[in-house]
Amino acid sequence: MTTTLSSPADVIGTVDTRLVIGGRRTEASDGARFDVLDPATGEVLAAVADATPQDGRAAVVAAVAAQAGWAAVPARKRGEILRRAHEALLADTERLATIMTLEMGKSLTEARGEVRYAAEFFRWFAEEAVRLEGWYGHTPDGASRAIVASQPVGPCLLITPWNFPLAMGTRKIGPALAAGCTVVLKPAPQTPLSSLALADVLAASGVPEGVVSVLPGSRAAEVVEPLLRGGDIRKLSFTGSTAVGRILLEQASTAIVRTSLELGGNAPFVVLADADLDEAVDGAMAAKMRNMGEACTAANRMFVHRSLAAEFGRRLAERMGALRVGNGLDEGTEVGPLIDAPSLAKVGSLVDDAVSRGAQVLVGGAPAEGPGYFYPPTVLTDVAPDSALCATEIFGPVAAIQVFDDVDDAIARANATEWGLVGYVFTRDVDRALAVSEALEVGMVGLNVGVVSNPALPFGGVKQSGLGREGGRHGIAEFLEQKLVVLPKRG
Ligand code: NAP
Repeated sequence: MTTTLSSPADVIGTVDTRLVIGGRRTEASDGARFDVLDPATGEVLAAVADATPQDGRAAVVAAVAAQAGWAAVPARKRGEILRRAHEALLADTERLATIMTLEMGKSLTEARGEVRYAAEFFRWFAEEAVRLEGWYGHTPDGASRAIVASQPVGPCLLITPWNFPLAMGTRKIGPALAAGCTVVLKPAPQTPLSSLALADVLAASGVPEGVVSVLPGSRAAEVVEPLLRGGDIRKLSFTGSTAVGRILLEQASTAIVRTSLELGGNAPFVVLADADLDEAVDGAMAAKMRNMGEACTAANRMFVHRSLAAEFGRRLAERMGALRVGNGLDEGTEVGPLIDAPSLAKVGSLVDDAVSRGAQVLVGGAPAEGPGYFYPPTVLTDVAPDSALCATEIFGPVAAIQVFDDVDDAIARANATEWGLVGYVFTRDVDRALAVSEALEVGMVGLNVGVVSNPALPFGGVKQSGLGREGGRHGIAEFLEQKLVVLPKRG
């Protein structure tokens, strides 16, 4: 769809703000709605239907009813539907990016990039739909024949965070639909409009009724727990904080629901003495400032060798300080607002704590005046390891530099966290690069690069950063069971 829309209100007006249950649009069963705010102004953008536990139940009933039919659709056809959805998202980039900027705050440039990234999950999994693996063979004793076939795991519950409102949805819906699973998506309450718009794109692309339900709401715990414990949902795919992931993992244990968790991170960013400084600063800008630092992959702790630390800090502060902060809708804005008032308060208190423990502020360091939840790009150096921001996801545009002398000490400090999503290493020495990559307790490493995310590659963490992988060939396996058929070998 190509749209010419004159105002933000026009754009928001294109989104149907009712729930999607089994392909039908409906109000919440109790008629409730909740407000979605623009973080750049604090003003209400829209009131969205607020799903109840009864609505949750209805969505699962629809997903169960549609499951066998969707699994029976030939894989090629499922792939073609996803491929159409890929094209449709790209054709609708301006509208979808504007919706995302309005409800989440990121700049239009970043929002357009996210539409492309989100669409790419549909293209990748459209291609994977026809490559589900199987196996045929004989048992080692020669007495039996056996077939191993991939089958969809069944109805899935997908829960997404607010920081990538479109891509976190397509990263789950793409593989689920390609595998032949039906889904119930519960988006974050801050950013439900992108998911509601996505539901229309999917329906227009040919996804049959019942295959995708979308349940925005402000009562997640009430809605989700009975669904997870109820036995009809066969798969949970969750992206969000480790604290919530832990709660959901316990709830999933009741009915032994297959579970994938993409949780928080505390990424180390290690610059060794022989690093190319230009490359390291470019990498730091990407690893820190993508999504204003509101990313699970954000470089949370920067460890820089003493010989480079002063120059690295100076250059990074210069680049960060030059970024244009403002309403994401203004072309040219590079850094939008944080998502809400609690996030702004949290980032401010983390910086204050680090400064009280001796950190030096190279640029930024204090929140902007309202309205909106703006925090300026900030660089701190000589951060003490016991600062709160070393043990917390900052989730804001704050680079925190620690100085090191010895690589083993840097690795030990990098690993001194319960998280293990991603790490970044900058060095020109390939042996050292690989040795440090092996030693970091993380699921992904960026070597001389500040972004690792790509729909064709397996994304995920170790330790308390999660279970399972999204994207790549691994992403679809999370939505498949292996069915074994054994028969005696008589001929
Ligand atoms: P969050 O508070 O954990 O919420 C994530 C989602 O879970 C939201 O939809 C939320 O809805 C829902 N939720 C919260 N409590 C729930 C409960 N008891 N039962 C069912 N659902 C519940 O995380 P967030 O603040 O939205 O997102 C930021 C976090 O996501 C960060 O930790 C970040 O690192 C992580 N993240 C990880 C990845 C990754 O791939 N590893 C990617 C992006 C973000 P309500 O708000 O309504 O409760």
